[in-house]
Amino acid sequence: MSTRIQISKLVKVFGKGQAAARAVDGIDLTIESGELFFLLGPSGCGKTTLLRMIAGFIDPTAGSIRFNDKDVTHAAPNTRNTGMVFQSYALWPHMSVEANVAFGLKVRKIGEPDRSHRVLEALKAVQMDAYASRKPTQLSGGQQQRVALARAIVVRPDVLLLDEPLSNLDAKLRIELRSEIRRICKSSGITTVYVTHDQKEALSMADRVAIIRAGKVEQLGTPSELYRRPRDRFVAEFLGETNFIEGQVTLANGALSVRTSAGDLTAARLEHSPESGSVVCSVRPESIRLVEPGAPGSLPATRLETTYLGETAQHLVELQGDIRVKVAELNPAEIRLDSSPGNQIAITVDPGDVVVLPKV
Ligand code: ATP
Repeated sequence: MSTRIQISKLVKVFGKGQAAARAVDGIDLTIESGELFFLLGPSGCGKTTLLRMIAGFIDPTAGSIRFNDKDVTHAAPNTRNTGMVFQSYALWPHMSVEANVAFGLKVRKIGEPDRSHRVLEALKAVQMDAYASRKPTQLSGGQQQRVALARAIVVRPDVLLLDEPLSNLDAKLRIELRSEIRRICKSSGITTVYVTHDQKEALSMADRVAIIRAGKVEQLGTPSELYRRPRDRFVAEFLGETNFIEGQVTLANGALSVRTSAGDLTAARLEHSPESGSVVCSVRPESIRLVEPGAPGSLPATRLETTYLGETAQHLVELQGDIRVKVAELNPAEIRLDSSPGNQIAITVDPGDVVVLPKV
């Protein structure tokens, strides 16, 4: 049976008195069974502390953690049946790949031939069965991390915990391993909690993501919910590049209208959008289109700079009121790049791509 993790009012305070730091500050989360769940946030936000409390390496100050019906809040790590993968593969250098993976089964007193079958099955899952007799030092970083993953899943853990498993690898390998790890986690059906500060990793792999900030959950949702409907500036900015345009919002005929010094922007009404007063609109560069001056519903703009990157072009444009915005154009047409900077153009953006956020 797969495991559902229920975290209630969880707190961890390090230190005492004046020096006390609330690394985790009252977190409530339910991670569904079989889910690939991400904890994403900047350095020092408390995500590793939260993961280590789930593993049992750090004892919570308050609150509770349940695996299905079992309260594991203060249970010893070796009684929780979790598997863990760290940034530093932590393989035993003197043991072969096979022996590294078999170790946890030996500790659990799994005898032969079952042990060898399970080691082979786990090595096949991570596509490392051909390397069984090598030593970790004879493997690349990516291969070592695959072995670390095999070692974690071979014991058939109820919960798999991954702490920045890709951050020691080069960019190309990181991208390759993203889909591999997702495939392995989803096909094994193990509930997985994955810590990272890399938003692309979270967006590309997660079923759901909790954005953590200063020990609290700032927002929880699927990757597209978080990217397209951030609740505040922090989430909008943390998940990718965006433009912030300030203005005053009013509600008319079911849509939001924001008066800005660049002109009026229409925005879709979202669950968390403020509907009056001072606001800031988040508009992603890829949702803005460059159009001819005077096009219906457009805002006038001056193009300041264009950087051609092949598959995209990045434009910096200035709107009325000295507002500068970035525009990303996919598959850029040559004609736009021929024209010299400083020319008069206009921009449009769909109301569904304008997210109205509180100004603070
Ligand atoms: P990073 O991505 O840099 O690892 P993180 O989000 O995982 O960051 P944590 O390691 O959970 O952050 O740390 C959260 C806060 O708790 C930080 O301010 C950190 O300095 C503090 N902290 C963590 N461990 C301890 C400890 N053992 N004693 C005192 N403070 C600690």
